[in-house]
Amino acid sequence: MQNDTYRHKGLRRQLALQLKDKGITNLEVLKAIETVPRHLFLDNAFIERAYEDIAFPIGEGQTISRPHTVAFQTELLQLKKGDKVLEIGTGSGYQTAVLLEMGVKVYTIERQKALFDKTKLFLPSIGYEAKFFYGDGYKGLPAFAPFDKILITAGAPEIPKALLEQLNVGGVMVIPIGDAVQTMTLLRKTAVNKFEKEEFGAFKFVPLLEDKEWGKG
Ligand code: SAH
Repeated sequence: MQNDTYRHKGLRRQLALQLKDKGITNLEVLKAIETVPRHLFLDNAFIERAYEDIAFPIGEGQTISRPHTVAFQTELLQLKKGDKVLEIGTGSGYQTAVLLEMGVKVYTIERQKALFDKTKLFLPSIGYEAKFFYGDGYKGLPAFAPFDKILITAGAPEIPKALLEQLNVGGVMVIPIGDAVQTMTLLRKTAVNKFEKEEFGAFKFVPLLEDKEWGKG
């Protein structure tokens, strides 16, 4: 791949080891972190620090999550090859690429037009094919439902009802819930309208914003 050197690969291996020390155990997730060239997702100003476990600005007031957060959410999803996954908050596309490395199909929604346009072009240019949608993640994608897994990569004040409906029975949703700080939450759909909930500690995301750019002229 263009601009991906042995040095970058070495830094990624170290990052994967660091995430293992921080408790990530799923080997396929660690392998995905070792594979996706995170430095290509960042502005030049941050490229030298791409393999540190920190978040960076990606424009439009948004951030690319810390690798640990990406790995943690990916691990919680318990992905199986061929799963149909809905991701809310495409952002830089880094999490999307990690999901694709897990062998799943990804439908991803972004509400910031500039980020949507940029990432829709960029990801395929480095070999990652997802289905990109510009719209409001709160609504999900009813036309493409149901999904085996749903991942929300922004802090949600509450669980969007439409998304629960679009989850397959047996499926899993991973969503950080809260305002300033969020609780990482896993919901498993055990039957129509029946969910089991598990919580996994505090994380900090940019907010999941409700539709305000379209529909209001
Ligand atoms: N997964 C991203 C992280 C993005 S930060 C990455 O790896 O880079 C969260 C993203 O969610 C931002 O890009 C933000 O614009 C987007 N977002 C916020 N509210 C949204 C909504 N209602 N629908 C879709 N995307 C939303």
